[in-house]
Amino acid sequence: MPFKKVSLKITACLVILFAIGFFVFFPAYLDKQTNLLHDSHLPVISAQARTLHAQLIIGDWHSDTLLWKRDLMDKHDYGHMDIPRLQQGNVALQMLTTVTKSPDGINYEENSTDASDNITKLALVSLWPAKTWDSLAERALFQAGKALELVNEFPQHVSLITSKSELARFILERKANPQLLGLLLGTEGSHALDGDLNNIQRLFDSGFRMMSLQHFFDNKLGGSLHGESGEGLTTFGREAIQKMQSLGIMVDVSHSTEQVVKDVLAMSNQPLLVSHTGFYGHCPSPRNISDDLMQQIAANDGLIAVGYWDGAVCEPNVIEIAKAIKYGIELVGSEHIALGSDYDGATSVPFDTSELIYLTQALLDLGLSELQIKQVMGGNMLRYLQLHLPG
Ligand SMILES: [Zn+2]
Repeated sequence: MPFKKVSLKITACLVILFAIGFFVFFPAYLDKQTNLLHDSHLPVISAQARTLHAQLIIGDWHSDTLLWKRDLMDKHDYGHMDIPRLQQGNVALQMLTTVTKSPDGINYEENSTDASDNITKLALVSLWPAKTWDSLAERALFQAGKALELVNEFPQHVSLITSKSELARFILERKANPQLLGLLLGTEGSHALDGDLNNIQRLFDSGFRMMSLQHFFDNKLGGSLHGESGEGLTTFGREAIQKMQSLGIMVDVSHSTEQVVKDVLAMSNQPLLVSHTGFYGHCPSPRNISDDLMQQIAANDGLIAVGYWDGAVCEPNVIEIAKAIKYGIELVGSEHIALGSDYDGATSVPFDTSELIYLTQALLDLGLSELQIKQVMGGNMLRYLQLHLPG
């Protein structure tokens, strides 16, 4: 064979090997670099915390784990969550949120609508199907598909919860099988509607039961807390909320402008969720809305879920997260506070989901009662779902 032909073949082989290496290893590398666990002082676990933690029904309103190329049935030593770690942490209910558009640099102050979108790049390097490249609805459906596959393949480990009756059955089944995990599906922002109200029904039919309105960009529904306009709810946004609530989709106002939150409160016939946040009075971060508005959300029977990362609690250690929860309890009452980790949402956190017992301990150390801890760790989430999932 002529030398030129041989060297061409070697080059082709090298290119193919590089491509395989890139598409296999780079998504995991990105995941490891983006979803971090930092060293932090963790409390010593007492016998009381162990006994209490084992009795809790634990629920978390926000995790972006479906975004990443991770086999969720395997236990990983990176990222914040997979099924074995959720089981180890005694988690019962996990809302999985689907991110469809996120700006370069994730800026809390201001992002222009034409800022470069990271999820397009992630979709390309993770080899998501071509239909996800230019459709945000398809991105949400693709991520949901990963959860639905787990539910079909491993029914002894995971159930999808989309209605009050499925929730009741799940609670019964979990008594016999404490490893059983209930998954729920949500969107991070209504960018996933692609500006089309018909996509609400489409997402509902695929199991979505919570939708937030904005993420880092302003959209057709109204202004993002991190956008440019500062606008309230648009006419399209009002129509979207009416449609969501008529179907039984719970509305999440995380990342929305204060004006959007006020407008939703004024029109909504349902209580609202803040699926991952902190309290401005505890941590004055541009990620958090005012205490006054949080009180209005709670007065309307809403639920506020506290996150574990710096943007929410300023100092992301277990004591400060517990202090944010205590602050929330003092501000709005223990029946309105829940957990909203933002695990795997490009965050750095002090403990992963398998280590949630440290939070139970920190809440005990701050003097919270066992009843308050039961409410915050998941009791309130269970009650909210019992009231607000479709029949
Ligand atoms: Zn978020």
